[in-house]
Amino acid sequence: MARARRRPAAPPEAPAIEPDAEKPAQAPNAPATPPVCPPLPVCPVCGHQGQLLWIHGEGRCRRCGTVIDFCCAGAPLDGGEG
Ligand SMILES: [Zn+2]
Repeated sequence: MARARRRPAAPPEAPAIEPDAEKPAQAPNAPATPPVCPPLPVCPVCGHQGQLLWIHGEGRCRRCGTVIDFCCAGAPLDGGEG
């Protein structure tokens, strides 16, 4: 009786799961630090200072409509190189 070749026991493949623990940005409970108000943007065109009017991710001046803050301006983009 011929012995069947035993297949080498393959080691159990470890799941490629990286420990990606996503922490919530803010706790449900209000922190002790008071909310800080960022300085209002000033329009370089008309000099109007105030909250921007966000349209399609663009911050526009409420007075003249000039786009002051573009979408994702200054924010690091991941995987956008190409
Ligand atoms: Zn303006």
